[in-house]
Amino acid sequence: MQSSSPKYIFQHSNPKPLPAKSIFITDTHIHELYPNLFKGTRTIVFRPGEEHKTQETVQYITKELLQFEAHRKTTIVGIGGGIVTDIAGYAASTYMRGLPFGFMPTTLLGMVDAAIGGKNGVNYGLHKNLVGTINQPGFIIFDTAFLETLPDHEWSNGFAEVIKYACLFDSALFDELNRNDIRYYRNNKEALNTLIQICVQWKTKIVNEDEHENGNRKLLNFGHTAGHAIETLYHMPHGQAVAIGMIIACNIAEKELGADVSIGQKLALLLSKYDLPATFDFNVQEVINVLTMDKKRNDTGIEYILLKNIGEACITLLSFSSIEQALVSTKNGSNH
Ligand code: ADP
Ligand code: ZN
Repeated sequence: MQSSSPKYIFQHSNPKPLPAKSIFITDTHIHELYPNLFKGTRTIVFRPGEEHKTQETVQYITKELLQFEAHRKTTIVGIGGGIVTDIAGYAASTYMRGLPFGFMPTTLLGMVDAAIGGKNGVNYGLHKNLVGTINQPGFIIFDTAFLETLPDHEWSNGFAEVIKYACLFDSALFDELNRNDIRYYRNNKEALNTLIQICVQWKTKIVNEDEHENGNRKLLNFGHTAGHAIETLYHMPHGQAVAIGMIIACNIAEKELGADVSIGQKLALLLSKYDLPATFDFNVQEVINVLTMDKKRNDTGIEYILLKNIGEACITLLSFSSIEQALVSTKNGSNH
């Protein structure tokens, strides 16, 4: 069971000024895009980008919290994409051994994935999220009005995670996504809100069953093992790297589980409707080198998430050599 469930609020309102008594954490983009929102508040602002998801930023936030005289009863609210909410949750969890905190995700990826589940933390060098905590926010406010300013590639990033839930758990969702495309959801608020709520339900269900990732929460790493390696090595946007990672996993599943070739083919087609890639010219050896440093590896290999079918996933321990073979076939674009 999960330690304590956050309260969820779904809304679509043009963001109104925030209450003065909390302390807000955001990045410079959001701060500049929504100046009225932060007027008269105590707000800590840091520069956007994965390279700022570091202990140095947490130290800066800690210094600012001290300056604002934050105490054990002060609520911290992270407003932004996954980087902001991950850092805000971590800073709030460690300052004075923990302050109450909540999130307002402003990206699609944040709403369907990053803000949910209580994983907070920072990177260390090439190691993504190496240092962090699992601590649930008190509340999450899903305000889809923020998405009106979201750039194109950030929409695709979020859809990679939406497609991931469909592959893992929900073949009906996979079919629905296949009937539509990225432009349909961007122009149809109702369909988008429903889609976000479906994803929030899937992620919440998994986190409630397995908060500390001893079992089914591992499934959410589908596409993320090779995906993270490619993202780090080639500074690729998260969603694009996960898209390629999901295709690599399909190639592995064909060999390891005898999964049908059509699964990877359907996935590649679906990815293209959401402006996501299915192949990329990466260096196999470089990717393998990063995978051998993966925090989820053990002595013989890595636990890999594979699809038996669309909507049906399993966890399989794989050797590095079978992963290497699949990397070669993905790079060459075989089958798909
Ligand atoms: P995620 O991990 O959710 O993709 P990031 O924290 O990496 O999010 O944010 C991605 C980028 O999008 C950052 O440059 C951030 O400042 C910007 N951003 C976040 N939300 C919005 C928004 N609603 N409108 C415009 N830009 C946004
Ligand atoms: Zn992800």
